[in-house]
Amino acid sequence: MNTCPMCTSREIGKINRGRYFCRECCHEWTIEGEGHITVYRITSEGAVVRLRPKVNNSTNPPTSAAM
Ligand SMILES: [Zn+2]
Repeated sequence: MNTCPMCTSREIGKINRGRYFCRECCHEWTIEGEGHITVYRITSEGAVVRLRPKVNNSTNPPTSAAM
């Protein structure tokens, strides 16, 4: 994966094996074995908040992250 799962930016970095972050939207995510992605949001206080995993067959749009 070379793009952010949240904003599709290519401005991403690798933290360590299977863990990445996005410079554009300040999200982190981990990728496990079979492509399962767990996304975390980094708050302005530096806290890490786990977001709901992306479900491929869901028709619900992602929750707006407008802040
Ligand atoms: Zn992003």
